[in-house]
Amino acid sequence: MAAHQEKKSSEERKHKSARNDTRTSQVQWGRAWEVDWFSLASILFLLMFAPLIVYYFIMSCDQYQCSLLDPLIDLLTGKKHLSDIWNKTPTLTYRAAGIYSLWVAFQVVLYLFIPDFCHKFLPGYVGGVQEGAVTPAGVVNKYQINGLQAWIITHVLWFANAYYFHYFSPTIIFDNWIPLLWCANILGYVVSTFAMIKGYFFPTNAKDCKFTGNFFYDYMMGIEFNPRIGKWFDFKLFFNGRPGIVAWTLINLSYAAKQQELYGEVTNSMILVNVLQGIYVLDYFWNEAWYLKTIDICHDHFGWYLGWGDCVWLPYLYTLQGLYLVYHPVQLCTANAIGILLLGLIGYYIFRMTNHQKDLFRRTNGNCKIWGKKPECIECSYMSVDGTKHYSKLMTSGFWGWARHFNYTGDLMGSLAYCLTCGFEHILPYFYIVYMTILLIHRCIRDEHRCFSKYGKDWKRYTAAVPYRLIPGVF
Ligand code: NDP
Repeated sequence: MAAHQEKKSSEERKHKSARNDTRTSQVQWGRAWEVDWFSLASILFLLMFAPLIVYYFIMSCDQYQCSLLDPLIDLLTGKKHLSDIWNKTPTLTYRAAGIYSLWVAFQVVLYLFIPDFCHKFLPGYVGGVQEGAVTPAGVVNKYQINGLQAWIITHVLWFANAYYFHYFSPTIIFDNWIPLLWCANILGYVVSTFAMIKGYFFPTNAKDCKFTGNFFYDYMMGIEFNPRIGKWFDFKLFFNGRPGIVAWTLINLSYAAKQQELYGEVTNSMILVNVLQGIYVLDYFWNEAWYLKTIDICHDHFGWYLGWGDCVWLPYLYTLQGLYLVYHPVQLCTANAIGILLLGLIGYYIFRMTNHQKDLFRRTNGNCKIWGKKPECIECSYMSVDGTKHYSKLMTSGFWGWARHFNYTGDLMGSLAYCLTCGFEHILPYFYIVYMTILLIHRCIRDEHRCFSKYGKDWKRYTAAVPYRLIPGVF
């Protein structure tokens, strides 16, 4: 009996020590194990106010012609009460619930049941079954990459049904925009809550879970790393890309159709928004396999931040320029239109080429040419959960020699171009560039913190070699 007890407690000790090892090693990855007061305060702020921010923006377009100040002035001067604004807000309708359910169900079907065929005839496109990065627990997940195909099928059906069969009007999204907001919120909360429960009771991979013991932090930042249902339904890939990003271009098309209906023409600013954001969306799907290696998929756990964010924040706030242009059709002079187009295209080029350089460098283990030369790099090492030492390289030439996150710089230039299409009458369309600047600077800091814990002194050598983050010589 005593021997049995001793064996049991020795096993318990071993188990505990293994868990501690996992804990220590996992500090290098993803979200935190422990919550500091600043993170907690930010999270509580976002949980309380992010849904209100989205509502406020959309409501101010619906009721105040996209003025962000007028509702405040009305409320502060007592001209209107909160209840007046709320009573004027369209409610959830059966029609919107039907449209939204059909939309999400259709995206699930496209995602789960139609294996990719695009990679069979599109040269250079990487689709079909692809592997993600190694997770902290050492798992390599497989993904069915078929987003481009889902995007194409959805858009072909959209044009056919809206313009040929006339089953619905192309303005359907705009016309139901606020009722659809309630549906998106319901899905966002249901998915995030389900992910939390799943993380506790039936995680896909228990070793890839993180718990802080703080309910709000765990709810926001997620517990599970790669929650899945069955073999293929991956929450992160699905919600990250569809339904939000597939919808992005449809939403813009619906805004353009509304402009046409209201004013008899589509302005050049609306065309620019559709084209520039369309390029960005198509880029996402063309490179969906590559996105498996980005921070969202490689390092973030799946919680409210991704679940609600992908369902509500992204489709509603990333499309504000098109919405604004429905209420304020801006016709840009040719010089301004060309200037904005160039800014958007150059931004996109920098964004894509920087990402491409890193991808090529990593895929070939540095055996490639960047700007006609063999890339320079810093050799570095790190430990994984199981205590194995791994080796990696950080490139210090090409765009990666100019700044440590020049891909973000390109992204920000593109984001500014979208906003500039709207002129300078209102601040609402500029929300996007303000938000992206905060998001990407925060991401720089988060990523660098993680890379420093991962690579230690090697990361310091890298930051000494490439001292700037976004703008060479400035920041
Ligand atoms: P990155 O693609 O920049 O990936 C950062 C990772 O790359 C690091 O953690 C490190 O990972 C590795 N790395 C860093 N420096 C080097 C180097 N010099 N050489 C080789 N590898 C390096 O970041 P993201 O995943 O955040 O962004 C991907 C793209 O997505 C960006 O272009 C960004 O602008 C865009 N984006 C857009 C958003 C939007 O809402 N529109 C939101 C977020 C991102 P490792 O551990 O492998 O070394």
